[in-house]
Amino acid sequence: CGIVGYVGSKDCADVLIDSLSKLEYRGYDSAGIAVFEKGEISVCKAKGELKNLTEKMKKEHKPYGHCGIGHTRWATHGEPSDINSHPHGNKRVSIVHNGIIENYKEIKDFLIDKGYTFVSETDTETVAKLLDYYYEGDPIDAIIKTLKDVTGAYALGIIFKDFPDTIYAVRKDSPLIIGKGEEENFIASDVPAILKYTRNYYLLEYGEIATIKSDRIEFCDFHKQNIKKEIQVSELDM
Ligand code: GLU
Repeated sequence: CGIVGYVGSKDCADVLIDSLSKLEYRGYDSAGIAVFEKGEISVCKAKGELKNLTEKMKKEHKPYGHCGIGHTRWATHGEPSDINSHPHGNKRVSIVHNGIIENYKEIKDFLIDKGYTFVSETDTETVAKLLDYYYEGDPIDAIIKTLKDVTGAYALGIIFKDFPDTIYAVRKDSPLIIGKGEEENFIASDVPAILKYTRNYYLLEYGEIATIKSDRIEFCDFHKQNIKKEIQVSELDM
């Protein structure tokens, strides 16, 4: 399972697929991407190998844009299928997730009660819809409120329709790094995913929320206080 994200001037879908291919060693049963295309979140996902996803994009539609997130899934809740593949969400918010949401049933019941409907069997979709429930215009507020309700392990890449040039990232117990390039930035489960583009990265820790745009990466804590982080330089030979 792997998470990637890209914001910059390149063709986002190409970078996401390339980065996901570098995480294949982690194992997966399906893959998907969500890319901002003309201000809308455009999603493509497919069960099976990455090439199933690239073939589906060729046949149907390849989202073209410059900001997006991608995922290779190792199913824990819900069988491997196109629908259960990540990203999950709706028109307003889309997420990729590695890990397990322990209290997803509770969250699902709460949201169904509020009128939400679910299309997948995943634990992940409950977090996507909870973000939507709490979202009132400020993504960081929605993320903080959502994570207060969530127990389990997660690395999350999140995009909001209202912020088409920004990726948000958080984690607890699942790994996530933020790659810093030249006028382009990345998120990834592991360094090999970004090495083709940059060696500079930040290690995201629990309690930190990353806001990633092409020209800037910012970190804050759950009280919205800014955090300064030190950049790491990978010496991996790949
Ligand atoms: N628990 C999530 C699912 O089953 C994420 C699995 C993963 O880490 O790939 O969809």
